[in-house]
Amino acid sequence: MSVLDKPYKLASRSLGAPSTTIPVGGAVLGSGDVVVMAGPCAVESRQQLLEAASGVSRHGAHVLRGGAYKPRSSPYSFQGLGERGLQLLREAREAYGLPIITEVMEPGTVGIVSQYADILQVGARNCQNYPLLREVGRVAKPVMLKRGSGCTVEEWIMAAEHIMSGGNMQVMLCERGIKTFETATRNTLDLSAVALAKRLTHLPVVVDPSHACGKWYLVKPMCLAAIAAGADGVLVEVHADPDAALCDGGQSLTIDNFGDCVTAIRRVATAVGRRVPASEPVAA
Ligand code: PEP
Ligand code: MN
Repeated sequence: MSVLDKPYKLASRSLGAPSTTIPVGGAVLGSGDVVVMAGPCAVESRQQLLEAASGVSRHGAHVLRGGAYKPRSSPYSFQGLGERGLQLLREAREAYGLPIITEVMEPGTVGIVSQYADILQVGARNCQNYPLLREVGRVAKPVMLKRGSGCTVEEWIMAAEHIMSGGNMQVMLCERGIKTFETATRNTLDLSAVALAKRLTHLPVVVDPSHACGKWYLVKPMCLAAIAAGADGVLVEVHADPDAALCDGGQSLTIDNFGDCVTAIRRVATAVGRRVPASEPVAA
């Protein structure tokens, strides 16, 4: 099948385009490097964020994650610290030299989030929010596009196409689980979608086993499976005290468990002829 038969053009591998590569924190997504992004679900406080940032940086993470604007299923749950959260992320970035990935939820906040973030995250719930995709398509920052929990692989790639058609080619895909009949895990991690997206597109593909599984003890095995299946990186939730987390504590790794997870990721990376590069501090 040629690219002309596919609804997506810019994202398609069959145009003969080389793999998209996105340098980040001393590693290059899409180059074969294994990139590790980690941090809390939400920025809760200065101390909580700095503890997590210190822990993930000590264990070799390349990117610090943390939500300042949180899409919560309940309006009564913690909604994030907003711009104060972005300021704390900036402080953690300066303290530990880690680039920041954080979610942008609305077209109207793309400007402000872009002032702080190194990578913009479009969450699963917004995978098909076309005004938001259009807005991040105009920004000169990499975008991580999470797969909607009800999106087919084609719908997910078409969402990436929306961003790219606005001129922003620095797009990475993120598989974070889809809804199935199974309720034992939060979602069902679709690892076949990772290998498929790598085949159909030239974009880097990241796996988020935390939101896929919803259980901290499934995160390490699914990280290993993801790397073996060809994922370019993983996005993992880490909290110094998961029991006290305001959001997603049950799927968050402790700092020690994260260290153990990175050690295991290094072994699998070596086994499949890849490496986890040393992280390099970003300029303040
Ligand atoms: C998140 O990464 O914080 C998040 C809300 O994930 P998702 O959009 O995959 O649910
Ligand atoms: Mn979360």
